[in-house]
Amino acid sequence: MKLKTVKILECVLIALAVLCLALLYVKESTVIGVVGGLCPLGALVVNVLFWRCPKCGRWLGRDSKHFCTHCGTPLDRENGN
Ligand SMILES: [Zn+2]
Repeated sequence: MKLKTVKILECVLIALAVLCLALLYVKESTVIGVVGGLCPLGALVVNVLFWRCPKCGRWLGRDSKHFCTHCGTPLDRENGN
């Protein structure tokens, strides 16, 4: 998966979680609560599984970087390798 896609997917999942929490104030629903609880978990799983250096395969960490801190490979997110 491309690094850019990983970031977009994470943002969508976090946004969905926030939306679900907001909806819970309007309407109490178990489904909304479960989805709202699973979305941040999904974002975490996506991050751990796919937020990795394309060359060495190690996790890139929390911060946005322009190169891998482990092997120094440039991370061109626009081309998303
Ligand atoms: Zn690397």
